[in-house]
Amino acid sequence: MTKTVAVANQKGGVGKTTTAVNLAAALALCGKKVLLVDLDPQANATSGVGIEHPVHTLYDCLFRNIPTADAIVSTSVAMLDFLSSSADLAGAELELAGLDHRGERVKRLLASVAGRYDFIIMDCPPALGLLTVNALTAADSVLITVQCEYYAMEGLGRLLSTIERVGDSLNRHLSIEGILLTMWDARLTLSRQVSEEIAKFFPNKVYQSVIPRNVALAEAPGYGRPAVLYNAMSKGARAYMEFAQEFLSHEQNSTG
Ligand code: ATP
Ligand code: MG
Repeated sequence: MTKTVAVANQKGGVGKTTTAVNLAAALALCGKKVLLVDLDPQANATSGVGIEHPVHTLYDCLFRNIPTADAIVSTSVAMLDFLSSSADLAGAELELAGLDHRGERVKRLLASVAGRYDFIIMDCPPALGLLTVNALTAADSVLITVQCEYYAMEGLGRLLSTIERVGDSLNRHLSIEGILLTMWDARLTLSRQVSEEIAKFFPNKVYQSVIPRNVALAEAPGYGRPAVLYNAMSKGARAYMEFAQEFLSHEQNSTG
């Protein structure tokens, strides 16, 4: 069974891409077969795994009839495959709007390759437009990253109502995978306050693992490698490996 997870939050810069890239790589290092899909026109995940000039991208699959399998490439992590984004995906919001089944296009594209993977992880753009709706429609669950900062809760209501709306119409079994706190600073009371507030808002959904603010996580994309490979001993990389274990333990519990 393939499990498909969308990493989403329309708030910008809250650690979605860092989480998608490092969770995907960590799961692959744990021996799982993983496909990471970049749905963000900023293509940060694409450069984050070291892909500079992808031959084919998600845009080509959506609008130029390129088969999904032909656009998937391997990465420097043995068990991790990748489907790239590109700047032209920015136009996809408008182009999709004119199509039938516009919210289900990515789900259909992934259907032909899903069976090859244990996990498909999707990195969403910081918006609640059609690309994110497509990710939520294709997903079994949503992983929400929350940055430990002022206004961390801002917009979460809107994100939840989008998840509910997609759940009511396009994807009845969509669930919330969990909430991951990122850029945690143990010295700051603020980090603890955010974590308490989030725990009240999402009872039983907040992961025990938290991702600290750590420079290796910010540097790794510059070297085109996930931090769990670039600097495996860094605090940030270790936090993502620990998080991947927690994520996997939830899978084992839910599948019996
Ligand atoms: P966007 O909404 O623009 O797609 P995002 O939610 O994907 O952003 P990231 O790109 O993962 O967020 O992170 C934003 C910035 O913060 C990046 O420069 C990233 O390298 C850095 N960053 C992310 N997590 C951490 C962390 N735990 N410690 C230090 N820097 C981090
Ligand atoms: Mg991003």
